[in-house]
Formats: sequence, structure tokens, C-alpha cells
Amino acid sequence: MDKRRPLVQFPHMNRFGHALRRLSITLCLVVAGVAAAHAEPEPRTVRIGVLAYRGAEEAESTWEATFAQLQKALPDHRLEMVTGSTAFLTAAVAGDRLDFLVTNPGHYLELAIDYSATALATEMDLEGTSSSESVAAAVVVRAGFGDVQQLTDLRGHRIAAVASEAFGFRAAWAEFLDRGVDPFKDTRLLFVGYPVEGIIEAVRSGRADAGIVRSCLLEKLIAEGAAKPDEFRVIARKPSGTLRCQVSTRLYPGWPFVKVARTPAPLAARMKQALLAMQPETGEIAWTEPEDYQRVQDLYRTLKVGPYGRFTRLGIIDFAWENRWWGIVAAMALLWWSIHVARVSHLLRRRTAELQRAHEKARLESERMEHTVRLSLMGEMASSLAHEINQPLAAILTYARGCERRMESGTDPDGVRDAVRRIAVQAERAGAIVRRMRDFVRKNPSRQVPVDPGEIVTDALALFEPTARGVNVEAEVPTDLPMVRADRLQIEEVMLNLLQNALEAVSGRPDGRIVVRVDTDAHAVAVSVTDNGPGIAPGAEEHLFEAFFTTKPEGLGLGLSLGRTIVEAHGGRLDVDTATPGETTFRFRLPQLEEETRV
Ligand code: ADP
Repeated sequence: MDKRRPLVQFPHMNRFGHALRRLSITLCLVVAGVAAAHAEPEPRTVRIGVLAYRGAEEAESTWEATFAQLQKALPDHRLEMVTGSTAFLTAAVAGDRLDFLVTNPGHYLELAIDYSATALATEMDLEGTSSSESVAAAVVVRAGFGDVQQLTDLRGHRIAAVASEAFGFRAAWAEFLDRGVDPFKDTRLLFVGYPVEGIIEAVRSGRADAGIVRSCLLEKLIAEGAAKPDEFRVIARKPSGTLRCQVSTRLYPGWPFVKVARTPAPLAARMKQALLAMQPETGEIAWTEPEDYQRVQDLYRTLKVGPYGRFTRLGIIDFAWENRWWGIVAAMALLWWSIHVARVSHLLRRRTAELQRAHEKARLESERMEHTVRLSLMGEMASSLAHEINQPLAAILTYARGCERRMESGTDPDGVRDAVRRIAVQAERAGAIVRRMRDFVRKNPSRQVPVDPGEIVTDALALFEPTARGVNVEAEVPTDLPMVRADRLQIEEVMLNLLQNALEAVSGRPDGRIVVRVDTDAHAVAVSVTDNGPGIAPGAEEHLFEAFFTTKPEGLGLGLSLGRTIVEAHGGRLDVDTATPGETTFRFRLPQLEEETRV
């Protein structure tokens, strides 16, 4: 006989019936409360959670007798039953919405660790004889289902259970492991959720080959007529002690009646007293001193679940699930960050490419400008150079005619030889002038190499001097100058521009004089071009090095600005010096080869 059967049964209860019954329970509790009203005018509501593993209605009918007795014992309080799943009850405890609860041993273990829950009493088994061995699980198959006898026979089969965290499932899980079967890997698990009847339904319909249910559920269903006695059988049976049901697992202590951290101690004491004082009559649940739940702890430790599974795979999954919103936020932040980084690096690449293109364009532009300035310089010097080439050509002509005369007369062979030698010297002179001009105007890629600065100055002077026409050009170029790293052509161009500017400054002056000096100090070689012209035009000094600044009608205004750019690209400086009255000096400094970084 099932002692959990409610006092009053409603075999074919409909929705209205349930509402009616709930109303009657509430009325009972209210009447009891009103009876005690003289003791406590405002009864405190005591909320008691009940794990409804077979659904809310079943839980209510199972526990209504117990609740009525407790209400009688605590007339100054109004007891309220709150039914739900383990997850629901845990949330209610966490939210301080429960004073007590009745739940399975595994759930109690978790609440004890996480919320300091304490068992006040443990329910006795259905016979009222044991509280330490009153809960187990049964593995149920259809009666006619093959030769399945042992748990090992279920390898590869579909097994239905409430949930991976249900106590019954965990009890069975340990038994499977004992026989070398990992239900998660070796079988196909089907978690159907509450109520547990769903498991029986799954097995009955063939959706599952076996089902893991709480001990005595099958017997209860048979007694209620919800299952036929020969419809199912329990496999892998184990001794069930005083429990009058078939079980497939070890036996564990019964359900505890639990107080939580917030429950006032006097109320907990009175509740415990009421539970222990309860007289087990038909249909009522008997309570005894709280059992030792060590076996449940051992089970959870073996399976690494609940409090012991925090750092295992399941624990991590639970943790991930609990913190999923943070996870989603973090994932979105990460996604945003990745997109941002990708975008920034794309923009950076594009900008770098743009800069490179701009840089290359500027370089070409500057090369083109240099060339223009060189051509312009050459243009300015062209007539003088033509005149200069004319001289050796005229000399050659004269010597050639002299040769002819001497050869016709047949005398003076030494004179002929001397004239021919002079012709060769003059031809070389003309050739050198042409070569220098050609080298100067040729387009050459910029290339800085170690070079003697004296050679650059001498070459520039050789190109310039023929054009000086009556202007006194003095040059002091020491022979043992330190080397510099330079683009020969570019520095020659700077030099020629300074000389040309000086020449233009002194042109027309009978005492016109240009002095070129090359000096060295500890770090650099300084080349200066000084003239005794009229000096820098008033207000022009601060604009001298700006591009297109010129005071000359035919000027380009590029020589000094380009000169400064070139010298600075060599790590040096180009400046004007007007300190000495009557003299204008332009000076550029280039770092010595071993001192390059220090100028
Ligand atoms: P440009 O010679 O085509 O004008 P530059 O950049 O070489 O271009 O010179 C810019 C200006 O600097 C000149 O127009 C002139 O006013 C001034 N300048 C340059 N050198 C001298 C100098 N030796 N004496 C006086 N003024 C000078």
C-alpha cells in the first residue's frame, strides 16, 4: 500500500477540480491560521519549497497531509507550499524567497555547500522503517525488450532520464561506471525533463529503450493504474533492504527537510520538533533525525558533479551557461574589437600605400625640379661655355693651319710635331668642357657615396670659371679634406647655384670678387661662397630659402630652396651669413663620413 497516496483522491481530476482542491487546501490553512489568530494577530508566512519531480499537482497531493499537520503545530504561522524543479528551488533559495524546503539528497548537498542549508529531519522509507536507505533509482525497460538484463546490455541503446543533474540519474550513472559503461559515451541519453512520467512514456512508446526513474515510481504507477503490472521490468536489480520496491542502484538516505541560512533559529527548532513529533499514519510521511549524507557526497565526488564538478567539463558548461549573457557581451565586444582592428589595419595599409605613393611622387617631382634648375643654370652659363669651347677650337684651327704651312714648305718637322701636340691639348680641353656639361645636365638617380668634397668643389669651379668673365674668382681648397657621404652631382649643383648667384651679384662691378673657401671642424666640412656684391635685398633675407622667391626678372627662385633641401637630405645645413659688411656669404656644411650623425 502506498503511504504517499493523498488522503482524498481525485482520480480523474480536471483543471476545475485542481483549482477546487487548491482552494480547499488554502482554506484549510487559512482556517487553521484564523484559529490561532488570538496568539499572533498577523501570522508570518512561512514558504516551504517542495521538489515536484512528478509535477506540481502530484507534489501538492503528496505533501498536503504533512503540510496540514505542520500547520497545526505552527498555528501562529501561515504555511505556503512552493513547488518546482531543482533549478527553480535553487533560484528561490538564492533569492531569499524560501524558509524551508523538501528535496532530494543530491540537491540538498548542493544547497548545503552553496547556501549553508541544513537538514532538520530525514524522511523515512515508505514502510517507516529506515531513513538511511530509502532512496534509489530503477532502470526500467519494456517487459518484452530483448535479453536486456544488465546495465552493460544497454551499450548503444537509448536511455531516457529526467536531466543530467537529477539525483536518480546520478545514482544510476555511478552504477553504469562501476560496470565500465560511460552513459554519456557508450549510450544515447535522452533527457526528457519533469515530470518523470515522461520517462515511462518514452519507454512505453519505444522512443527510449530504457528509462532511469526514482525507486518505487513504477510500483506507484502500477498501484495508481497508470502502468500495467506486466508492462515494464526493472533490470540490474540490487538488494533493496527494507524498501518494498525494485531498485537498480545502491540505496541512499531519504529526502531531507531543510532549513536555509535565513530561517530564524526558533522557527527552525519548532519546525524540527513538529516533524519529529509527527505520528506516521496511513498516507503520511514519517520523519526522523537528519541522516548522514556522506554516501551522497561520495557519489557526487566520484562523478565529479555538483559542488565537485565546478572545474570539470560539466562544471565549465554550467558556468558558461550561467554566465552566458556576460559571454555574449564579451563575444560581441571581441567581435567589435576584431572588426575595429581589421578596419584600422586596413586603413593603415591604405594610408601607408598612399604615403608611399605621395613620397615617390614628391621624390620624382624634386628630381624633375633639380633637373630643371640644372638646365636653367646651364642655360645661364651656355653662352659663356660656348665662348670657352670656341677658344680651343680657334687655337686648334690656328695650329692646324701652321702645320699645313710647315708641311708644304717641307721644313721644320719639329714645328709640325709641336703644333700637333698643341692641337691635341686644345681638343682635350674642349672635350673636357663638353663632357662636364653633359654630365651635369644628365638625369641621374640620386646616390650618396663616400666622396672627397674638394673634388666636387674643384669640378664645379672648372665648369664655372670659364663663365666668370673678368670676375676675380679665388679658391682655397685644401688637398687633405676628410671624406663626406654625398651625391656628387647634387652637391655640385648646389655649389654652381651659389657661384652663379654670386656672379650675378657682382656683375657689372669692376672690383667684382668671388671667394670660395673649404674649411673643416671636428665634425663637418664647410664650403662657403662669398661675394662683394650689393648684399641681400632689403626684406628678402627671411624669404631666401622659400621656393619661387626671386628678385631677378628672369629668376626661377628655386636654387636656394632646392639647395637647402639637398644639403639637409645629406644631414647638413645651408645658411646665409651677412655678418661682415660688404660681403655676402652662403655656406653649406656636410657631416664628415665618420661623424655623419652629429652635425
Ligand atoms: P634665383 O637666383 O633664380 O632668383 P635663388 O633661389 O638662387 O633663385 O635665389 C633667390 C634670391 O636670393 C635671389 O633672387 C636674390 O634676391 C637672393 N640672392 C641669392 N644669392 C644672393 C647673393 N649672393 N647676393 C644677394 N642676393 C642673393
